[in-house]
Amino acid sequence: MSDFPTTARVVVIGGGVVGTSTLYHLAKGGWTDCLLLEKNELTAGSTWHAAGNCPNFSSSWAVMNMQRYGLEMYRTLGTDVDYPMNYHVTGSLRLAHTRERMMEFERVASMGAYQGLEMGMLSPKELKDYNPFLEIHDLQGGMWDPLDGDIDPAQLTQALAKGAREAGGRIERFCPVTGIDRDGDEWIVKTEKGEIRAQYVANCAGYYAQRVGEMFRPFGGRRVPMVTLSHQYFLTEPIAELEAWTREKGHKVPLVRDVDISYYLRQDKYGLNLGPYERNCKAHWVTPEDPMPDDFSFQLFPDDLDRLEFYIEDAMARVPILGRAGIGRNINGPIPYAPDGLPMIGPMPGVRNAFEGHSFTFGIAQGGGAGKVLAEWIMHGQTEMDMWAVDPRRYTGYADHDYTLAKALETYGHEYAMHFPRHAWPAGRDRKLSPVHAEVVAQGGQMGAYNGWERANWFAKPGDDTSEVAAQTWDRAGPWALRIREEVEAVRDAVGVLDLPGFSRFNLSGVGAAEYLRGLITGGLPKVGRMNLAYFANDRGRILTEMSILRHGDDVFTLITAATAQWHDFDVLNADLPEGLSLTDHTDDFSTLIVTGPKSRGVFEAIGTQADLAASWLSIQPAVVAGTDCALARVSFAGELGWEIHAANVDIPGLYAAVLSAGAAPFGMFALNSLRIEKGYRAWKGDLSTDYTLLEAGLERWVKLDKSQDFPGKTALAKQQAEGVKKRFVTMTVEAGDQDAPYMSTVYHEGKVVGETTSGDWGYRIGKSIALGTIRADLAVPGTRLEINIFGRMYAATVQPDQPLWDPQNERLRA
Ligand SMILES: Cc1cc2nc3c(=O)[nH]c(=O)nc-3n(C[C@H](O)[C@H](O)[C@H](O)COP(=O)(O)OP(=O)(O)OC[C@H]3O[C@@H](n4cnc5c(N)ncnc54)[C@H](O)[C@@H]3O)c2cc1C
Repeated sequence: MSDFPTTARVVVIGGGVVGTSTLYHLAKGGWTDCLLLEKNELTAGSTWHAAGNCPNFSSSWAVMNMQRYGLEMYRTLGTDVDYPMNYHVTGSLRLAHTRERMMEFERVASMGAYQGLEMGMLSPKELKDYNPFLEIHDLQGGMWDPLDGDIDPAQLTQALAKGAREAGGRIERFCPVTGIDRDGDEWIVKTEKGEIRAQYVANCAGYYAQRVGEMFRPFGGRRVPMVTLSHQYFLTEPIAELEAWTREKGHKVPLVRDVDISYYLRQDKYGLNLGPYERNCKAHWVTPEDPMPDDFSFQLFPDDLDRLEFYIEDAMARVPILGRAGIGRNINGPIPYAPDGLPMIGPMPGVRNAFEGHSFTFGIAQGGGAGKVLAEWIMHGQTEMDMWAVDPRRYTGYADHDYTLAKALETYGHEYAMHFPRHAWPAGRDRKLSPVHAEVVAQGGQMGAYNGWERANWFAKPGDDTSEVAAQTWDRAGPWALRIREEVEAVRDAVGVLDLPGFSRFNLSGVGAAEYLRGLITGGLPKVGRMNLAYFANDRGRILTEMSILRHGDDVFTLITAATAQWHDFDVLNADLPEGLSLTDHTDDFSTLIVTGPKSRGVFEAIGTQADLAASWLSIQPAVVAGTDCALARVSFAGELGWEIHAANVDIPGLYAAVLSAGAAPFGMFALNSLRIEKGYRAWKGDLSTDYTLLEAGLERWVKLDKSQDFPGKTALAKQQAEGVKKRFVTMTVEAGDQDAPYMSTVYHEGKVVGETTSGDWGYRIGKSIALGTIRADLAVPGTRLEINIFGRMYAATVQPDQPLWDPQNERLRA
């Protein structure tokens, strides 16, 4: 007891793979004064013999990259720390039953190529060459993933712990954290062995993370949106054919993932291990009658094989030797799920100097990379790659227990499902409704959720196919296509209205507010009565976020930003808020109607307003429209003449009805995306991310290196400006086929990878497929011919001049 530490720079709570990996990366990064507290033995969370395999290729490029880092690290970890491990890199075969699945694989293979991974496409016959036990008659083909395999999680955890200790990290086992307190800037971490004072704390408590998260509630924390589900796999007895094959070849068969059916099948010694993600999955510890036990270490749930029956039968038909083996052992263990099944890695929402690394559904595979990412957050306050896909702040207040449970069950049952661009998943809907939600739905609105807010994606007409099945396509064509065209044409030729609830909206005021903002943003502030776009960089000059700044007085501002950015951007503004300034969140109090198109001025004239409709582009003014108090901002993300009406929720229905009565046609988010991309307007966390500096993103118009304030990123941007950029944002037109380029499509020049797209869509006004992206700077010259890999096929693309494709001189905006 006497040498029990009383201080540490960082306390990591939880000694599973993720906690030990975090400590390992902290210590390797030179932060030796860090302590990990584990309530049991280190491997407590991993009683099952889990495989260290790549999970679903979520659409996130960053998650794939994180995994790749970890799996590559595991290859040398055993020798690096002198702790030999059983790690079999068997590779895996993903099976495709449909054309859409083959297209998904092509896309993943192309993203892999960008990251240096050789993921090959396979014909059914080639699948059989890899694994002779497969039935292939009904398959379209498959994909080879060279990094997949299996690892012993207990050994992995011990190896990470050994490496961490040797690098200077400290581990206290059998030391549950029982409470958290705060003294000034210091955390006080309470344990049964004593208290530890720390600068930073990281919650890596696995499926106990919600319980640990409760300890942070008094300090601004929220209820962690996660639930515990049960995940089962079973192991067979040895199979003679498999043993004979393995002995002959000298290695195991590759793992099989039958993603359309939803299971994985891997070799375990000379038997097989089948792990389904079943539709009829089950949550535990989610009702008062079934409370979470204080400790579940080294325990399992009772077998529940009935739930797996369909998958077992399907797998036996696919790999008939499975049916010839007896069942050896079933493992049914707790697995934590966030609503989207992705982990939470990053700053703890609402709590300064606290971090999270939990809710891992594939923590063995992802732990290596996750530890690196979390250590970067703690040590540097930023990550090497943009990790928004796993940032805990992506879920805001709407993600309560019912939502989390509904989404987690949906996600688990569709763990390997394809995420089609026009498909809206049905669980956990209607969390946040616009004041005119009922009207929008009655008009045919096909809704999508944006930070919990329901917005129309497109408006269906009677007879249109609005089924989920119709949305199971990567193609541009679909029931929505004609409607998007009509909506775009209404905005182009007349006037459209978009009901847009959920813009994140903050008020900032107080003496010195303007100076504070000038010290944060890279560019200048608008004059009073005007608005402009502003960018916030991190100290590497990379794009943290973009906000619209509306200036009502010298020191009185409203900042408006993307719905999903709500907690992220509030943190950006709040992190170093000087005393005396007031920063408040009004996202739930106001809403927005976008009225845009060449006839939009006529709409306001028809419904009556005292506002100055001749006030210039980017002007803002308090107004009375149709007898209702509101504010008008002369701006349009659609790139036409237009105004945003900002009003209290209660006033939106009257305004919406008035605008419609004057002839505005409702349009949706899909049309808006097409409209904005023709103007080259960037979207947050697609085109705008911490993967790019402002200069690489072509945003130098918003960078004032000559201003006196020392804003974050100024030094880095000045250095980059002097040295020149290596990558450069461009707009490209694409001679595309049936699909437009999705996010992170690989761009080629003369056969070499030279960049990636950040968004793509069809431009209805210009009649072309458009991609935005970043390419090698020397190629960012108008007219350069490139190729883009879109779902496995190469399409010619041409770099466009650095101006909007639609209305290059912005004359229509200023009309
Ligand atoms: C049957 C099954 C099969 C699986 N198969 C795979 C697979 O093939 N591949 C894969 O990648 N993943 C797999 N997983 C998931 C994987 O096991 C988890 O994602 C992973 O173990 C999570 O690691 P972790 O470090 O986040 O959490 P954990 O391993 O749960 O570690 C958290 C630690 O925190 C400790 N703790 C909790 N509360 C406190 C406290 N108050 N004070 C101190 N310590 C505390 C716990 O004792 C525990 O040791 C499987 C899961 C199951 C159930």
